[in-house]
Amino acid sequence: MKKRLMAAMLVAGCWGMMFAQTKVIAHRGYWDCDGSAQNSITALVKASEAGAYGSEFDVSITADGVPVVNHDDDIQGHVIETSRYAEIKDLKLPNGETLPTLDQYLAKGKELPTVQLILEIKPHKQKANEDRAVKAIVDLVKKHGLEKRVDYISFSMNICKGLVKEAPGAPVYYLNGDATPAELKKLGMAGFDYHYKVVQKHPEWVKEAHELGMKTNSWTVDDRKVMQWLIDQKVDFITTDKPVELKQLLEKK
Ligand code: MG
Repeated sequence: MKKRLMAAMLVAGCWGMMFAQTKVIAHRGYWDCDGSAQNSITALVKASEAGAYGSEFDVSITADGVPVVNHDDDIQGHVIETSRYAEIKDLKLPNGETLPTLDQYLAKGKELPTVQLILEIKPHKQKANEDRAVKAIVDLVKKHGLEKRVDYISFSMNICKGLVKEAPGAPVYYLNGDATPAELKKLGMAGFDYHYKVVQKHPEWVKEAHELGMKTNSWTVDDRKVMQWLIDQKVDFITTDKPVELKQLLEKK
C-alpha cells in the first residue's frame, strides 16, 4: 500500500514538473486597486500582497545617470533621457507618491522576498543611453544583491544583447515579437515575452521554446478567455493588469 502511495506521489510530482502551472505577473505592479498607481512602490507591495509570482515595472535613465521607474519615456513633459534627475525628482504619481528611483524600488523589492522583480528597460532614443542604462541598472541590481530575483525584459534588441553581456546568467526575455525561440536561444536569452496576438499567430513557438529549455511569457492579458487559452498552451507566465482575477482562474482548476 505504502509503495503504491509513493508511486502515485512520484507520478504526481513528475506530472507537476512536466506541466508546471502558469504563473502570474502583475503588469506595472498591482495598480488597479485603492491607493495604488502604475509603477508606484505601492503597486509593487500590492502585487506581493496579492500573491503574484512577479511584479513588472519600467525603467529609463536620466541624462545624469539615474535610473527611474516610469512607463513613458517622458513624465509630465520632461523627457527622461534628456532631463537631469534634479528636474524630475519631486514629480508626483497619481497616488501621491514621488517618482521612484530604481534604487528605491529595488530596496523595497528586497523587503518582499516572495515576488520576482520583472525589470523592463525601456528603449531610449540614443543607443548610447541604452548602453548606459544597461550598465547602471545591472550595477544597482548587484548592489542590492538581487541578481537571483530579477528577470530582465526589453523591446530593444540592443538592450537585450547588452544585458546578456553585462549580466551573464541573468534571465533576459525579448518583448518585440519578431524573433523565433531558436534565434533568441542563439543570442543567449532565456525566452520570449510576446504580445498575446503574436502567441496566437505562432502557438508552436511555446512548444519550440520549451524544447529548447526556454520560458515563455505573454502580455498584457486582461481577458479571461485569452488567459485560459494561454494557460492551455502551457505558457509559463502571463503578464496582466488583473493579477487577482488570473490567480483565481488558475486556482479554480
Ligand atoms: Mg512594461
